[in-house]
Amino acid sequence: MEKKAKGRKPYEIDIYSIPEGGLDLEYGERDKWLIDFLGEKGLKRESPFHVTLFLERVGPVVFVKGSIHAALLLTCARCGEDFSSDLAHPFSAGFSTDFKEGKGGMRGGIREEVKLAEGETGLSQLDTHFLNIVDLVGEQFLLETPMQPLCNEACKGRCSRCGESLNSGKCQCGAEKKENPFYVLKKLKGE
Ligand SMILES: [Zn+2]
Ligand SMILES: [Zn+2]
Repeated sequence: MEKKAKGRKPYEIDIYSIPEGGLDLEYGERDKWLIDFLGEKGLKRESPFHVTLFLERVGPVVFVKGSIHAALLLTCARCGEDFSSDLAHPFSAGFSTDFKEGKGGMRGGIREEVKLAEGETGLSQLDTHFLNIVDLVGEQFLLETPMQPLCNEACKGRCSRCGESLNSGKCQCGAEKKENPFYVLKKLKGE
């Protein structure tokens, strides 16, 4: 079930539209803005993905609990082969509006003060009362995507001479010689 939230754009949520008791949101393949974001960042999805968010507002502060589930198609930094990587990542975040807008926002009372004190440093500031879901969810995808993805911790990479993958055994060029440092020296000397 896709649920829609009020906002200016499909990925912008008016935090004052978050009802008491919180707001459940789900995103997936149908949300073109999210697909576009992943595409722009060069992330390839291998299976339908699923994002869930729970938003709760206390006065001018929004707390988010969410999770992303996806299989990403990554390219191994050593051997260059594509491989599928399952992503299941729960996260939480907090946002605060630093502008004064309306008085209804103070309904949180004491609870709000307590939460603010607990999470003072962990709150990101919003400069409008719209929460941008692309920024929020996109950041989680980027955080969870390794800079140097490996198809396997033990990936042997490719032969530096012939370029053949060494994961299925030795290559044909006999590059095991290069592991001997004297081989390089001999080659330089022309022996
Ligand atoms: Zn590899
Ligand atoms: Zn080789």
